[in-house]
Amino acid sequence: MERPNAWKQYNGAQLDQLESFSRDYTAFISNNKTERECVASAIALAETAGYRNLDDVVCAQSKLGPGSRVYASNRGKSLILMELGSEPLTQGMNILGAHVDSPRLDVKQNPVEEKNDLAYLDTHYYGGVKKYQWVTLPLAIHGVVAKKDGTVVPVCVGEDAQDPVFVITDLLIHLAQEQLKKDAATVIEGEMLDLLVGHKPLVVEGDDEQKDPAKAQLLELLSQKYGMDEEDFYSAELEIVPAGAARDLGFDRSMILGYGHDDRSCAYPSLCAQLALTEVPARTALTILVDKEEIGSVGATGMTSLFFENVVAEVLALAGYGEGTLALRRCLGRSHMLSSDVSAGFDPAFASTFEPKNAAYLGHGLTFNKFTGSRGKGGSNDADAEYVALIRRVMDEHDVCWQTAELGKVDVGGGGTIAYILAKYGMRVIDCGVPVLSMHAPWEVISKADLFEAYRGYQAFLTLE
Ligand code: MN
Ligand code: MN
Repeated sequence: MERPNAWKQYNGAQLDQLESFSRDYTAFISNNKTERECVASAIALAETAGYRNLDDVVCAQSKLGPGSRVYASNRGKSLILMELGSEPLTQGMNILGAHVDSPRLDVKQNPVEEKNDLAYLDTHYYGGVKKYQWVTLPLAIHGVVAKKDGTVVPVCVGEDAQDPVFVITDLLIHLAQEQLKKDAATVIEGEMLDLLVGHKPLVVEGDDEQKDPAKAQLLELLSQKYGMDEEDFYSAELEIVPAGAARDLGFDRSMILGYGHDDRSCAYPSLCAQLALTEVPARTALTILVDKEEIGSVGATGMTSLFFENVVAEVLALAGYGEGTLALRRCLGRSHMLSSDVSAGFDPAFASTFEPKNAAYLGHGLTFNKFTGSRGKGGSNDADAEYVALIRRVMDEHDVCWQTAELGKVDVGGGGTIAYILAKYGMRVIDCGVPVLSMHAPWEVISKADLFEAYRGYQAFLTLE
């Protein structure tokens, strides 16, 4: 069985829509490279679309009913958006879920170091990265510095054309004989990921003996720009990401080269599908954008936290279902979910790692993974056949271009998503997403057609009754 190529099916108007959606997406991922930035921008879009902060609604004890739109932010790093449907919440919801954290390098708590007149910030990588991919690239720093007085200073350096950028150096080829004999996992090791951030010494008149003058200069600049001192690094979250905007890829501009397609190529169309609802849906529509997927969905802002459950419980109470847990259990147990995360796109350069019949191809649309996991489906959410049939029907009824895939050949590897965490409520969950080339590399590749079909597929799913 072969699935159709989405590009062959578009008319002129659809191609215009595809281009326009791709432009908005490209701007979104260029301007939002951290979970905090994604959540802040998503909240701004939601407020424009009439969503109210759930905290305010709870405070005012306003009643919620069909058509009510609310959002809840979890420490500014994960976000839930809900539009209440015309049917009772206890009949279940249609849920879109995706993650907004991406692999990157985090600045350590005690990061500043001067070595031979060069100033560095020491880093600790986040998520699964091939460390050798992160050297000799222009890098930017995004994040926040929280100070003891309670103020939180935003940091974003390396994106504006006038900004400086940062880099991690590599050994020149001329002296790399020994380095090149190492395997790829150790050619650049974690502790070698030191970000070069300065060089010019601070000159203090009458003091030629000053220790670490390049570090002193760096701290002086940080103090001027952010009002921070070295100890403020203890309470900072600074993320090192590739500098610069996402770009069209290819002479035909059919693809996008960008940082963080995993998983913003699913998160952004999910958000847009939720916000694009023009009529009150039958079933309540919920979109959740979560943090910490790349490190196992743990912690207060990851999918395993009780935030999701707590928010739905608050909404049930405000919608008149009482404060007990039975309505919550029914609502969750009867829900349907698309758990969206990127798929491994078939890469002809590495064809032997894929099983061609069960691989995701760029341009062939939204990719459904009945199961994920590794080896004997370990760690997987395996969607039941009846649910897969329902999804096929709704996608076909809305002319969505879709395909099915596994993550590579059996036994070559594997991966997990947030699907199994929601599935424990008894809801019907299937993994789906956009195929990506070079997943987890600083610059990843997607097809605009798959991004657009994801958006169309999510819209179709939210109409499911
Ligand atoms: Mn990932
Ligand atoms: Mn992912």
